[in-house]
Amino acid sequence: MKESIYNSSFEELKSFFIDLNEKAFRAEQLWNWLYVKGVNELELINNISTTVIKKVASKYHISHLNVNKRVISKDGTRKWLLKLEDGKEIETVYIPDSNRGTICVSSQVGCTLSCSFCHTGTMNYIRNLNMSEILGQVIFVKNELKDWNYKVEKKKLTNIVFMGMGEPFFNYDNVIKAINILTDEKGLAFSKRKITLSTSGVVPKILDFKEDSDVNLAISLHAAFDEVRDILVPLNRKWPIQVLLKALKEYSKKRSNKRITFEYIMLDGINDSIKDAQELIKLIKPFRAKINLIPFNSWPGSNYKASSMHQIQIFKKFILEKGKLVATVRLPRGDDVLAACGQLKSF
Ligand code: SAH
Ligand code: SF4
Repeated sequence: MKESIYNSSFEELKSFFIDLNEKAFRAEQLWNWLYVKGVNELELINNISTTVIKKVASKYHISHLNVNKRVISKDGTRKWLLKLEDGKEIETVYIPDSNRGTICVSSQVGCTLSCSFCHTGTMNYIRNLNMSEILGQVIFVKNELKDWNYKVEKKKLTNIVFMGMGEPFFNYDNVIKAINILTDEKGLAFSKRKITLSTSGVVPKILDFKEDSDVNLAISLHAAFDEVRDILVPLNRKWPIQVLLKALKEYSKKRSNKRITFEYIMLDGINDSIKDAQELIKLIKPFRAKINLIPFNSWPGSNYKASSMHQIQIFKKFILEKGKLVATVRLPRGDDVLAACGQLKSF
């Protein structure tokens, strides 16, 4: 079977042309077609000779993710169930805002971890996504939005969050390679400041990540005490809070210009007391950080209840006033169609 061209780095495409005795700048032309113009078929490329394109087409094809289902929330959030070449399915979400458009990208089919509040965690883990499937989600959404050949100020899709299905640090190599392509200035040219990777706390990969990438890092902390985090995020039994924070100190030393986002899901009676807020301040105080309070999004069969907005505001105020830390409350988007954080699961 032919390879998806989206699995190749720029260097690989360059070597491909050089092996054909073609000039290396053909790779630049092809790259521009793929990632600036958003070409859908190799045959449409009109500044490289047909003979050369035929050679490209004998090795590669431009892969497409097909839609199995699409839903639009009343707030404009869109969710697609996308079918991969082997028939497996993933979800991708687009969240429009007045000043930006964000895509929430999946990194795996399912997830090996089973955080007790997360819908994706109830699915069986199936496999990692390859690079063409990660990039394919962004390309798919750009096609849907007709967001190619834009002038920069008109770009609809501006932000990327790795917060869809899966744990991105368990698919580390493909995610990092995909980020390199997403931020390539001669291609899709996403700003590094507008890409955020969220991890449940895979310590060894946090240490690798500080060397390999300077996109933003978000940590799914969710609890300030190990007893609680052990239950919410079972990975905590392997890498408990203090071990996680030690790795984050290393990260901050290397990436001192970056602010870490700590995600904290608000669950009624579980992690939303003032005692929790006090401990959270203690943990986070040493970091250049912001706290993102996430009202729990419920899903069919979940055992938790969201904290009341009143309690979330009390918690937030305490963190701001006593901890002098930045805390924001994430408004649920697309929750009427199960497109909000943690509600993703193949239908
Ligand atoms: N696996 C990674 C990234 C995907 S989850 C991680 O856990 O960080 C993206 C974010 O959604 C995480 O912060 C996750 O904890 C949060 N989330 C999961 N289930 C949720 C739910 N039911 N309601 C609100 N947020 C949820
Ligand atoms: Fe996996 Fe993240 Fe869901 Fe936990 S919260 S089960 S790590 S997707």
